[in-house]
Amino acid sequence: MDLMNQTSKLIKVVITIFFTVILAVLAYQYFRQTIQNEVQLDFNNRTRLIKTYLNLLGSNVNSFKQDIEYLYQLEDSDCTALPAHYQLKDFDKNHYILSTDPATSLEVSLSGLGSAGNAQKYYGKEINTILKLSSRFNSIVKSLPEITWVYYTSINQFIFVAPALSPKDYLFKEADYQRNFWREAEPGHNPEHHQIITRLYDDAAGQGLMITISSPVILDNQFSGVISLDLGLEFLRSLLTSEFNSPLGEYLLVDESSSLVGKVDDFKIGTKIQLPDRPGDDQSIIDFQGKYWLITEVADGQLWLVHTFAKNKLTWAAIIKSLPVWLILIITLILAFVLIKLQESHKHVLELSRVDPLTGLLNRRGLYEAIKQPINYCKRHHNGWSVVIMDIDYFKNVNDTYGHDVGDEVIEKIGHLISNMLRKSDIASRWGGEEFLLFLPDSNVKTACHIADKILRAVHDERITSKDIHITLSSGCAEAGENESFSDVLKRADKKLYEAKEQGRNQNVR
Ligand code: GH3
Ligand code: MG
Ligand code: MG
Repeated sequence: MDLMNQTSKLIKVVITIFFTVILAVLAYQYFRQTIQNEVQLDFNNRTRLIKTYLNLLGSNVNSFKQDIEYLYQLEDSDCTALPAHYQLKDFDKNHYILSTDPATSLEVSLSGLGSAGNAQKYYGKEINTILKLSSRFNSIVKSLPEITWVYYTSINQFIFVAPALSPKDYLFKEADYQRNFWREAEPGHNPEHHQIITRLYDDAAGQGLMITISSPVILDNQFSGVISLDLGLEFLRSLLTSEFNSPLGEYLLVDESSSLVGKVDDFKIGTKIQLPDRPGDDQSIIDFQGKYWLITEVADGQLWLVHTFAKNKLTWAAIIKSLPVWLILIITLILAFVLIKLQESHKHVLELSRVDPLTGLLNRRGLYEAIKQPINYCKRHHNGWSVVIMDIDYFKNVNDTYGHDVGDEVIEKIGHLISNMLRKSDIASRWGGEEFLLFLPDSNVKTACHIADKILRAVHDERITSKDIHITLSSGCAEAGENESFSDVLKRADKKLYEAKEQGRNQNVR
């Protein structure tokens, strides 16, 4: 019985722990998924932001290109004279520059190879057209501080730049045709005349690392120059750290050759990033080389936004988010166990208050509780019930002769013997010191006496202890009359016991 109890308790504990672990795992999975969703949302938002920016800037470059091409067509082919407040002048023996009337607040500059006279003569129409864009060049660099420079570079060896550059700091030179903004845009590399985004490179005018959006300009059906807009690395960085913030990893901008173009921390120009295969529009998380990756194109075939983070970062973030839930689960588990323990000890205390510890039989209080139901049952079914009260004869002598311990042993053995001889429905109790009370439902006095006689005989015949003590019992029986109370029946039985004692003991009286 005890073993079964232990086993069922163990099963309960195992099931409780099992479900708690399941809940803990579910909480972890939930938070992990939530974080993944947040990371993905952040990535999508940032993608949208960067795409919008690049589109905006790209369309500006495009509209400059179209305006130059259109204005050039409108220009009178013979007119090479410049507007009144502009003038070309020689700067040194190889360069000419644009001199601007200080009254105009336009901050643009132009420098070219050769003499001012020649430039005026041969490229006057082209220069005239370009100068018409001065105010727009000016306003775009003023309104969008992320643009470092906007400039038109001509195949005719001059460059027009906003904001203005002092000729002391920079003059156009042949080597500028080797720079990315030109090389990647000119027809040799770009026969389709597409708009391009360059690789990251170092600015000729000392403004640090940047990328350029360039569009080739076609005048008279001939490639004639490139219109460009520079974006500094600092601006690219700001796109990678702006309002959306994901603590898990870092954002990168990578070009078509897998070279790093932008990153919040410092990096070496030309750093290659080993990327997993770039999926199309699918922006799901990719597991690659022990890290998670999100990759998407932000400029057609030219720039990719990459988000990458260590796998354990996700695990730790999920664990930290799960901790409060785990704590609550552990506390609930502990409380449940404490509650179960309390219930058990309460049950144990209740049992102790009903059971006699020496014999394991019910005590007086236990008996009163135990007989309520069977008495009611017998009343309802008009069945009789009987009471037998038994007392050990001359028990004081046993104590006196053999000691109290042996006396206890005698009481214990007789208790066992009685409970072994009763039917299942009978209830035995230790009524007092060396007195036992039997409640026998569905029994008349005859049956009760029969049982009492059997017990008396057995005790008489049994040698109870190792001391070979001869023990006898006396007993009194009474059957309940219609509607008679337990205490009345008990009183009658007690009287019979007295008579048994009087008549010489070791006998049952009814
Ligand atoms: P009789 O009933 O035959 O008239 O004689 P008796 O000697 O049994 O009479 P009495 O009822 O006066 O004595 C009962 C004795 O039982 C007294 C008490 O010391 C002893 N007793 C009661 N409870 C216990 C117990 O739990 N253990 C032991 N060892 N003795 C007990
Ligand atoms: Mg006695
Ligand atoms: Mg007695």
